[in-house]
Amino acid sequence: MRPSLLDPLFAPARTLPGVGPRVAELIARAVDSEGGEPTVRDLLFHLPTAFIDRKCRPPLYQMPPSGHVTVEGTVERLEKPSPGRALWRVILAEGNAAIQLVYFHAQGEWLRKMFPVGARRIVSGEVEWFDMRPQIRHPDYVLPPERADELPTLEAVYGLTEGLSPKVLRRAIRAGLERVPDLPEWLSPDILQQQGWPAFRDALKGAHDPETIEASGPNAPKWTRLAFDELLASQLALALARGSQKRGRGTAWRYEGQLRNRIKAALPFSLTASQATALGEIDADLVGDKRMLRLLQGDVGSGKTIVALLAMANVVEGGGQAALMAPTELLARQHFATIAPLAAQAGIETVLLTGKDRAAERAETEARIASGSARIVVGTHALFQAGVEFRQLGLVVVDEQHRFGVHQRLALSRKGDAPDVLVMTATPIPRTLVLSYFGDMDVSQLTGKPAGRQPIETRVVSLDRLAEVVERIGQAIEDGGKGYWVCPLVAESERVDAAAAEQRFAALKACFGARIGLLHGRMGPAEKDAVMDRFRAGDIRILVSTTVIEVGVDVPDATIMVIEQAERFGLAQLHQLRGRVGRGAARSSCVLLYRPPLGETARARLSVMRETEDGFRIAEEDLRLRGEGDLLGTRQSGMPGFRVARPEVHGDLLAMARDEAKLALARDPAFSSERAKALRVLLYLFGRDDAVRLMRAG
Ligand code: ADP
Ligand code: MG
Repeated sequence: MRPSLLDPLFAPARTLPGVGPRVAELIARAVDSEGGEPTVRDLLFHLPTAFIDRKCRPPLYQMPPSGHVTVEGTVERLEKPSPGRALWRVILAEGNAAIQLVYFHAQGEWLRKMFPVGARRIVSGEVEWFDMRPQIRHPDYVLPPERADELPTLEAVYGLTEGLSPKVLRRAIRAGLERVPDLPEWLSPDILQQQGWPAFRDALKGAHDPETIEASGPNAPKWTRLAFDELLASQLALALARGSQKRGRGTAWRYEGQLRNRIKAALPFSLTASQATALGEIDADLVGDKRMLRLLQGDVGSGKTIVALLAMANVVEGGGQAALMAPTELLARQHFATIAPLAAQAGIETVLLTGKDRAAERAETEARIASGSARIVVGTHALFQAGVEFRQLGLVVVDEQHRFGVHQRLALSRKGDAPDVLVMTATPIPRTLVLSYFGDMDVSQLTGKPAGRQPIETRVVSLDRLAEVVERIGQAIEDGGKGYWVCPLVAESERVDAAAAEQRFAALKACFGARIGLLHGRMGPAEKDAVMDRFRAGDIRILVSTTVIEVGVDVPDATIMVIEQAERFGLAQLHQLRGRVGRGAARSSCVLLYRPPLGETARARLSVMRETEDGFRIAEEDLRLRGEGDLLGTRQSGMPGFRVARPEVHGDLLAMARDEAKLALARDPAFSSERAKALRVLLYLFGRDDAVRLMRAG
């Protein structure tokens, strides 16, 4: 149970003074509350995006071109320039200089009360120039000089939502800060002293209400401490989860590698050096009696599937079963198509299990899995549903991990007796993020691509030149080429996306006739299979599709990739999509079609794509560009699942948080000390309390 100490922070935000049902609803939209009713904590973790320094007090004759200013002057007159519109101007003057205060939809009476002619007023707001004159539209503050001390010198700016005024949000946050209890210290005295960090409560207050502009923002010690707390909570949760997964020994597999050798002999290529290295690392885990928890990281096309298959072969030879879980049905089918015939060369029976199997077929498959006659099982998340019983599940391979939650991974692991786990990811996760996603999972990397691959020529082309692109593709088809035409992600909805793809399909069909095919997520599995088969065979030469082909689709002789409205895609996604070509020996090309005009960030993204194919560089650039997007106010950045920690700023703290978590567990494995109690509070505070369960189990 949550420590009662935290109750004030987990109370609904609407219990704060000044927060009625309407404001509460707006707050729910503005702050991250994980979809639930926002709590005081959610509100307080909504940290300022910037601060306004109201200390800038230039004289009226020296107004800067822009920015926040505080000015003082005498009210000279009020004007209502056009009788039909509720637009007012207040002229504030000092000597020969003046500034206009502009109000839309204002009532004269209210204005006259606020600005009696001849009175002195202090006004604070954002200055701009109009018709060569300085003006402030809707000043933030208007005060008589005797109340000058009501003007804050430093004011927090928060992410808002339509209808939520900064004043109301600020007041709610201030009220929330009053409720923060003193919490037991969960950081070690060493760290506190070494970093010079304040207690949590002071840190939270200081992050919202810093004393100086220099001591504000994510780099300031107070905010840094909060970020560290958050990272520590996640690292502790991961360490606990990992400890519980590793608990009980794994199986020390015994095999000679005969099955593996037979599969290798059947491959039309030899392994790359990094594939061999990764297999060596995996083998060391398999024969050891510690349980394997390994991340196999490799860029698109680096050949992870084969590595997984060869690992599975050894476990099968050792008497276990292996399961490969893919994120989509299409991908599961493709893996099955690759793996089954190769495995058969070694006499291994492989079955496919997806959510769409017919009942009779499904029962048959389940029976084979339960009896142990099926040695390798390929499937979607259907694999970990109830009813699927393995005889001896020894190895779980999870492909494209980022699509699965940790709990799904755990669910599948529970189907065996502490099976070894290999997680494959094609999303090159920057080093700074690996730790936060996977904790101290062991990592193997596939570097580079199999020999003989050619670079992909990437061009960025405006949609105005669509006709040209179509013509060149027609030419390429004549020359025997084939490829993909990816349609934009319009609405995150398969239905709408499918409609866009259908439209493009119809238009292209007019040019290319029967050599064009269509694939989208709304099609049934049999239909999809048929289309993929025809594409593989070459009857279909251009496959128009939605992003269903994003992950893992492998048709090595496809060499053309057109991505329509590429500006709508994120970098990681573009990289994944482009990775569908350049898989064989032939030269591939990629056309990034954009709809002008291009925004600055979109332009930067597309030029990164043109410049490099290096997944790691692309991932780092992605992080950088998204960080900048954040400054521009499009809040889409941040580490996923984190509220106060920012990857660009706090990434370096991750390693330290990991060490601190490890140390805390090593010193007190039973989690019974006072410090452990404080760490429990921390886990609850940052919503990592699912890990508390694991703590008790230990
Ligand atoms: P990914 O890492 O993206 O999952 P795949 O496992 O799908 O990559 O492999 C991409 C393609 O490269 C497949 O067609 C596969 O058969 C081929 N491949 C894998 N390893 C090698 C190798 N050592 N040499 C040549 N081709 C390889
Ligand atoms: Mg793959």
